[in-house]
Amino acid sequence: MAVRDSSLPFCRSKSSIWWRDLRNLLNVWSFVSCWFSSCVSCKVGIGDEIDFWRDCWLAADPLFVQFPSLFQVLLAPRITIAEAGYWERSSWFWNFCLFPPELLGAAAAADFASLSALLQHISPVTSVADRFVWKWDSGGFSVKSAYANLMLFARSQMLLGLNDKKSLNCIWKTCVPFNVSLFSRRLILACLQTKDELVKRGVLTGNHCLACPLCLHHQESHLHLFVNCSVAEEVWTLIFGWMGFVYSKSNVGISEHLMLFVSALRGKVRKGFRGLIWLATVRAIWLSRNAILFKGGSKGSQDIVILAKSVITA
Ligand SMILES: [Zn+2]
Repeated sequence: MAVRDSSLPFCRSKSSIWWRDLRNLLNVWSFVSCWFSSCVSCKVGIGDEIDFWRDCWLAADPLFVQFPSLFQVLLAPRITIAEAGYWERSSWFWNFCLFPPELLGAAAAADFASLSALLQHISPVTSVADRFVWKWDSGGFSVKSAYANLMLFARSQMLLGLNDKKSLNCIWKTCVPFNVSLFSRRLILACLQTKDELVKRGVLTGNHCLACPLCLHHQESHLHLFVNCSVAEEVWTLIFGWMGFVYSKSNVGISEHLMLFVSALRGKVRKGFRGLIWLATVRAIWLSRNAILFKGGSKGSQDIVILAKSVITA
């Protein structure tokens, strides 16, 4: 069922006060933004009503969450899908990034390559209006169903494991750039676009290569890429060695890994710096994985450690 008025994306004057308030909250409160994205799905038509970056139309998350570095470099543009490309004869061409890719910087360029690959076979649909679908009430949107679902979402967030909460807390307290902090929180909540997640969302199928780009041996997942992969294990061994410690791999989740890392360095490395080392390392693993996936070539554990150290010692 289509939801209410179609003015939601840009809050025109005919939007209800409730929608206007909600929309304003989305820009400042990521918790509400996350919840809202889970409640409304966009069906792309012409593309003139859907916010290219902020609405949830391509996967489970808005593009600004999936590609934060590029979004920041482009100065948080507010464009519709229709404005993010153009038709030439009967072919659609995306031009959401007006910067030459070589001027974007490494992280934004990696985002650009990933997003371009994701959009490769996607285009708006001419002659069909965009639609917004409220998922939780067959009778259409109501404040009651929105409130009930917001409370459910809040409760599910509260049901995060103790180590997940501690990890998120640790990330909040660590002084890192916003995009690193956002990336790390998404990692803890298992919201990165790893191949197993893309399969769940129907973006990748069994015809695609689902192997981890670092080791090429196992299916890529959050836990594999950052903890269990043989290349990741080498990276952690080198990072621990750099700090003067021996890394012993244990069968733990991502949050537990962060907690164990922080506690191993407690009393030996100053507070705040411990979290930074871990965050820089996982971020370097992710950027290297993206570089292999979207630019080709290879990245070994030494390259990843050099990248992590460049952030830590900056
Ligand atoms: Zn691997």
